[in-house]
Order: sequence, then C-alpha cells, then structure tokens
Amino acid sequence: MNLDNLLKDKTGFSSFKPGQKEIIQDVLIKKDVIALLPTGGGKSLCYQLTGYALRGTVVIVSPLLSLMEDQVQQLRSNGEKSVVALNSFLSFSEKEKLLSIDLNSYKFLFISPEMLQVDKWIKKLQSVRIDLFVVDEAHCVSQWGHDFRTDYLKLGTVKKVLGEPPTLALTATATKTVIQDIQSFLCMSEPVFHINSLDRPNIALKVEEVINNQEKKERLLELVKELRPPGIIYFSSRTKTEELYEYLSENGIDKVAFYHAGLSQEQRILIQQQFLMDQIDLICCTSAFGMGINKSNVRYVLHYHQPTQIESYVQEIGRAGRGGNQSIALLLKSKEDAMLPEFIINNELPDPEWVSIILRNLVDKYMEIESLSKIQTKEWMEQYPEQESHWRYLFFQLNEFLEKHGKLNDTSIEQCTELIQNRIDNRTSMKRSKLEELNKWTSTTHCRRKELLHYFDEVMSTPIDQCCDNCGLNMDIYSRELKVTTKSNVDEPVKWEKVLKKIFWQEDEN
Ligand code: ADP
Ligand code: MG
Repeated sequence: MNLDNLLKDKTGFSSFKPGQKEIIQDVLIKKDVIALLPTGGGKSLCYQLTGYALRGTVVIVSPLLSLMEDQVQQLRSNGEKSVVALNSFLSFSEKEKLLSIDLNSYKFLFISPEMLQVDKWIKKLQSVRIDLFVVDEAHCVSQWGHDFRTDYLKLGTVKKVLGEPPTLALTATATKTVIQDIQSFLCMSEPVFHINSLDRPNIALKVEEVINNQEKKERLLELVKELRPPGIIYFSSRTKTEELYEYLSENGIDKVAFYHAGLSQEQRILIQQQFLMDQIDLICCTSAFGMGINKSNVRYVLHYHQPTQIESYVQEIGRAGRGGNQSIALLLKSKEDAMLPEFIINNELPDPEWVSIILRNLVDKYMEIESLSKIQTKEWMEQYPEQESHWRYLFFQLNEFLEKHGKLNDTSIEQCTELIQNRIDNRTSMKRSKLEELNKWTSTTHCRRKELLHYFDEVMSTPIDQCCDNCGLNMDIYSRELKVTTKSNVDEPVKWEKVLKKIFWQEDEN
C-alpha cells in the first residue's frame, strides 16, 4: 500500500511529520507499537490513517470526554461519518440504539477505560472486528492508573477479552518508567518502540519569581495585557480559576472564561468549542482543560500554579504553538505557594489511617469477604464520606488482594492493611521525588530546555534562538503589539471552509 498516496487522499497533507510513517508501517504489519511523538506531533493521524488502510474497526481508548468530542468532531469535519464516541455524553436512547446496531459499520470507536469495564459494552465490542486497539495519551496508564483511574490498569485484560488486537500506545511524555508501565499494563509482549524527540523548539521557556501572591496576581494581569493571545492559564484549584477570572474581567480583560471539572459537561464542551473557534481568547483553568486539544494558534501557556511533575508541565505547555508559531510558556513562582503541590500529592491517595479504619469496619461487619460483591459499596461511601477517588482506589486494591490472597478476615486483615498502606507510601514518595525534580528545574540557572529534555533521557541537539530565560529571550516577540516580526509569528488566515463545516456538523447533530 502506498502510504503517501493514502495520506494525500485522506488528509490532503503532502508529507508525513517526523515519525508518523514509520509508526504506521509497523502497526500495519500487526506489531504492537509504543510511540512517543511531541505534543502537536500528529499522533492522531497515526491511527486515523492506519484505520483507513485496515478493513476492520479502530478502537481508541481516550481519557477525557472533551478530548473524545474534539477528536470525533475533527474526524467528522474531515468528512468521516463512521465515527462515534461511547461515553456518558450519550443519551440513554443513543446508547440503546448503539447497543442494538452492528458496530462494525463504524471505522473509529472512541471509548473511555471506564466504559470498557461495563459488561454490555464489552459484549458488544466482542462482536466487532477490531483491527487496532489504540491507547491515546498512554502516559495516563501510569500517571492516573495507580491513583484515581484504576481502570487504566485493567486495559491489558480488556484487550485479551477483545481478542488481542494489535495495540498502539501514543504519548508525548513518557520517562523510562512510564514506558515500562505502559508496556506491562497493556500486556504488550514485544512492542516496537518509536521514540522521537519530544522537544518543541517553538515554545520558549521562562520562569519568573514573584515575592508573594499579591504580586503574582498583579504580574498576571500585566502579562495578560502584554502577551499576544490566545492563551491558557493554569491554576491548581477550581476556586482560583474563578477568582482570577473575575479579577481579570474586572480589570478590563475580555473574551476570558474559566474552566474546571466542577462545571457541567455541557458547559465544558461549550467553552472548549468557543476557545477553539477563537470566540474566547483566554482560559483560566485547572489541569482538566486542554488535553489533546488541537488548537493551533495558542500563543502562551501561563502557570499561575505549577503542576506536581515535569510530565504534566510538558503536556500543559505543549498546548502552545501547535501551528508552529513562536510561543511562550511562563511559570510564575511564589514562595507563598510552595506548599501547594505537596498538599495536592498528599490528597491524591487516601490517608493510610483511613484505609486501616475502613478495613477494620468491613471485617467487623461482614466477618469474611471473598469478593467485592459482598459489600454494599454505595452505603459505605455514604456512611464514611470521603473523596470518591479514594474509595475507588481502596476497592481496586482490595479487589486485587482478594484475587491474590482469597479472603479478607481477622487473619488476613493485617497483611491487607499493610500491603495497601505500603503502596500508598511508595506511590506518595515517588510523587514527592518527581515534585523535587520539577522544583529543581524551576530554580535552575542552566538551560531549561536542555534539562527538560534530559529528564526524558534526551540530549538536546542544536541550540535554538528563543530557548529559555536562562539562555536569553526577546520578550517583544510575544507581545500583543507586533514589535518584532519573525517568519513564524504571523498567524495564518482562518480557514473558513473548515470552520463552516464544523458549524454545520453541530447543527446537524441538534
Ligand atoms: P498530537 O500529537 O498532539 O496528538 P494531533 O494529532 O492533534 O497532535 O495533530 C496536531 C496537528 O497536526 C493537527 O492539526 C493535524 O491535522 C496536523 N498534522 C498531523 N499530521 C500532519 C502532517 N503529516 N502534515 C501536516 N499536518 C499534520
Ligand atoms: Mg493527541
């Protein structure tokens, strides 16, 4: 098969981006592939084009609803009709309809790891000829699987139930450990690795220290007034996104919105769409925003709060400059916020003491537990209010214990408690050391790009002009008033044809 022709025919692109063709070639000869391509490197095309070259269906496991919706819409706006996302956004009747028809007529099926745990969907998928199983944003297996989205760790089993289709794992941020996690949890016995440079040379890196949070706020306003939009500002809490959104609005910044997981799904998708269509210029958001979102003209990503690890930072800043324009990633650092990441880490997993109390109460109530089905999980969750993700974590760990050791009772409770507590401790200390790495990076006086790449075991090849604050930056390039014109900082005109297609598709759906 001539892939270059297929590329032209299906996408109109004249050539592949680095790494794409090699990945597709290996997937087509039914190899399992773990592929690293930078943010904006064209990962979607790797499964899209492969899909057209295959007879059967491509199942894409995707972590977020908004991301799925975005990708479905992109495919549809390119004229692809046989695509559907199986997620909670579907109405009851839509779900019923999909369960009753032959899904083989769909080329691309997007689904979340959680939906892949639901019996009726698995049964349905067993009747589909799946020629490729894709895990997009595959670092989530490692980054979230161990904490609050444990269904990620079950994907290997799911794959087996679905007849072990060839698997393609795609990500832009994976250290060696993360790659190992992906390989083992997706049960890829002899995968081919396609590791490409993760560098984004058109994103300049800058860290600014401020004295306190008042100054941070003022500096934010200054920057937003100065920097050329569109931009994304990351915060570590929902309330802060709203607070700073209000502050910016009151101070004359318009076309700004806030976004976090506390908003309704409809609101979230609306804001995302408005941002994609340039109706909103600036988003104050938590990390819930932006994953995989393909907006080409974002000019800056500002961190009002830092994330807890380098991987997340690289993912988040990667949303800038996807169209190739010179862009900037700027992190604001204040001593007053120094404890925030630590606090977040401690809150991600349940308190070991709480685990011990719950296990004790479970044994007191049921005497002996052989399977989770014995537990009225809902009642317990109501009786001991605790973050839902903590409960999910506990049930996942308990289930694993039961599968391995048989029973939870007076004899085994100590072993079980210790096992889970150790896991929590190990995971938390691993996260602390990741945080330490990020902290080192924010305070380095050396080249930031070099160090960022080094973290992913990559050596920076050629020095670039707009690299980082430590190497020297010309901030005029990022200004609202085009003080300097470089070849890459003039935006392409809006492609109206595409925009209109999108609008019509939306109307079609309603
Ligand atoms: P990511 O790797 O971050 O998932 P995407 O798959 O969203 O990146 O692709 C980013 C952008 O690059 C999209 O607009 C896509 O259409 C474009 N793209 C992908 N492959 C090519 C190509 N071979 N030539 C030109 N543009 C491409
Ligand atoms: Mg992507």
